Amino acid sequence: MTLAPVVTTIAEVRAAVTDARRRGLAVGFVPTMGALHEGHAALVRAARAGGGFVVVSVFVNPTQFGPKEDFSKYPRTLDADRALCHEAGADLVFAPPAAEMYPERSVTFVEVTELDRELCGPSRPGHFRGVCTVVLKLFNIVLPDRAHFGAKDFQQARIVAQMVRDLNVPVEVTVEPTVREADGLAMSSRNRYLGAAERAAAPAIYRALLGVRDRASGERDVAALEAGLRSELAATPGARVDYARIVDAESLQPITRIERPAVAAVAVFLGTTRLIDNVVIGD
Ligand code: AMP
Repeated sequence: MTLAPVVTTIAEVRAAVTDARRRGLAVGFVPTMGALHEGHAALVRAARAGGGFVVVSVFVNPTQFGPKEDFSKYPRTLDADRALCHEAGADLVFAPPAAEMYPERSVTFVEVTELDRELCGPSRPGHFRGVCTVVLKLFNIVLPDRAHFGAKDFQQARIVAQMVRDLNVPVEVTVEPTVREADGLAMSSRNRYLGAAERAAAPAIYRALLGVRDRASGERDVAALEAGLRSELAATPGARVDYARIVDAESLQPITRIERPAVAAVAVFLGTTRLIDNVVIGD
């Protein structure tokens, strides 16, 4: 098993990127929290296909977890991650310890407005502030030309794209489609928390999203569509719906009718595991 090279300090990743640039290579970047799976591999392959020097970061970012969330038990599998990165074509893994990213009390954060009002924003206060802060820090450390994100985290990708625009960050953000298990479950590092019964129930999430996308070709009323989505999810054994919403795909604001592209997005607890998924409708 060949492992992609790893560095753990900002100085080392900067030196490697400077060297790549000196060799005339552009830099592609995939930020992750590790426990990598085929969804991440697809992002690394997209970065590889873009050419140049491909950096993957593996960093479980403390500032995007709430006090009652799974930061301390989030899976950490660096050797397997490095193997997947090598296989998918990454040149370097940047896996800093928390103290390297947040050496002393940081007092500066990226504040997100409007785009965090719905979906995961209210359920996870401070989450997108933590995401934007760490992504901007990583962009400033790696200085990539291109960065690759997954549509599985629709709101995150939308917020990062907006941050790049609003703050004039010279990075091209691209979004890759959600990679799924054969039964439709969106791949997620958190799927490994699921017990057997929860795993068996989990594909119902994507089935419910496909159902609402089908119904949206005739029914345009969002309240009716959301009610159907919510009741279908609630009928899943062991499921507790955190949210099941249809919002404008660009502004992420509530809508009453589907007249332009919208996203149906859900967060569902199966036991203590919170899973998210989405489909775009009406485009
Ligand atoms: P994470 O490690 O979960 O923070 O995710 C790192 C990146 O991988 C984010 O841009 C995610 O949207 C993306 N990602 C996670 N799961 C998937 C998936 N199933 N398909 C595509 N991209 C994904």
